[in-house]
Amino acid sequence: MYDIKIIQARVVDFVSNTFKTCTVGIKDSEIVSVGENLGDAKIVINAEGKIVSPGFIDIHIHEEIIGDTTDGDDYDIANKMLMMGVTTGVGGNCGNNRQSINDFLDFIDKNGAPINYLTFIGHNFLRSQVGIDNRYRKATQLEICKMKELVQAAIKEGVIGISFGLEYSPGVNFDEIIQICSATNNEQVLLSAHYRADADRGIESIHEMIEISKTTGMPMQISHLGSCTAMGMMRESLDVIQEAIREGVDIEADCYPYEAFSTFIGSAVFDEGCFERWNKTYDSIMLMEDPYRGLRCDKELFYKVRKEYPNMLVVAFVMNEEEVIEAIKAPFVSVTSDGLYRKGQGHPRGAGSFPKVLGKYVRDMKELSLISALKKMTLMPANRLGLNNKGRIEEGMDADIVIFDSETIVDCATFENPTKPPKGIEYVIVNGKIAVENNIVLNARLGKAIKRFRSKK
Ligand SMILES: [Zn+2]
Repeated sequence: MYDIKIIQARVVDFVSNTFKTCTVGIKDSEIVSVGENLGDAKIVINAEGKIVSPGFIDIHIHEEIIGDTTDGDDYDIANKMLMMGVTTGVGGNCGNNRQSINDFLDFIDKNGAPINYLTFIGHNFLRSQVGIDNRYRKATQLEICKMKELVQAAIKEGVIGISFGLEYSPGVNFDEIIQICSATNNEQVLLSAHYRADADRGIESIHEMIEISKTTGMPMQISHLGSCTAMGMMRESLDVIQEAIREGVDIEADCYPYEAFSTFIGSAVFDEGCFERWNKTYDSIMLMEDPYRGLRCDKELFYKVRKEYPNMLVVAFVMNEEEVIEAIKAPFVSVTSDGLYRKGQGHPRGAGSFPKVLGKYVRDMKELSLISALKKMTLMPANRLGLNNKGRIEEGMDADIVIFDSETIVDCATFENPTKPPKGIEYVIVNGKIAVENNIVLNARLGKAIKRFRSKK
């Protein structure tokens, strides 16, 4: 007796790059059968006409501050992820953690989570832990030693790797990065990096990330490539990465499908010279939190908010969507959300990224095939993270599944209503149980903390 049986399932086969119609049998937390005429099941889902995909894996999220939400639920961000079909996500990106690794993973161990969660240990978080409060200065040797100890502790706690947020801490030099990486002493640890600078400095930033991977011998994930060089430099940056891959460097990237990025207005991203670099004016910045929520900046408001509310989340409309699409189409780029909210405020990417690619870029614009997009949302990130039991609908795989209508799937989150859930997703199954049915959350605690090292390819 199966727990769940999905009949008339259109399942993607990434080997033959075709869809096949079959029945998927789930027992406990596993896909136990994929075939025809399976036996009885407690729950039967008729998926006729729908795509039955592995659950989406979001390699780049900014996890919530557990408990700091408006709706009384402990999870502000993972809830939105779940509603758009994400069943596994990776927090701790861009050098940042929003609480300690132990606090985060222990909470999930005790309470469950909407999605399965992995996390990086963030380098800028470590800098703050050892008392560096000036982002423009380099770390002392003593501070680097302390950070290395913290990296080793974090690896024991089960992080997937180290993330860097170079743009946010201009004082970090190459030597500090390499020393921090040396603490791992283990090539199975994944690195991710938010580049040092964007636009006309984006290419040199990509070269730096390639150099980090070459020097350490560790795999490097370039974070949200679109917000680095979708400002006229995307073609060149894709060529530079492709060339590095050809030389044998283990480098990949991810990208979210929007022409605007989002971060805190007090960050170094908005230091002098940013508007010249982007060739934009103050009104490209939209304020996303009270008391100025929804307002576009002028010069006066920009400097006032930067001074008085440095932690306000803002959105910067400074990228070209054609170049974002070009990035997402590149063979080494996964789809991600970079989702980041605080009390429900932020950028719509945290609730719309995956449906937007499937609805707008695949169905409406025909920029990439459905199979190619699904691979970038499932198998590619699974491989990158060493999650050998995820990313495919096959016997023995974890039963993380999203069932959606490729004809109707559409993102609904907007800059005015950034957490509005998408349409067209009928079921989300996490660890073998139904988490979402027709946009209604049935169980948002099915996810687990995944603590592990990245296994070798
Ligand atoms: Zn980032």
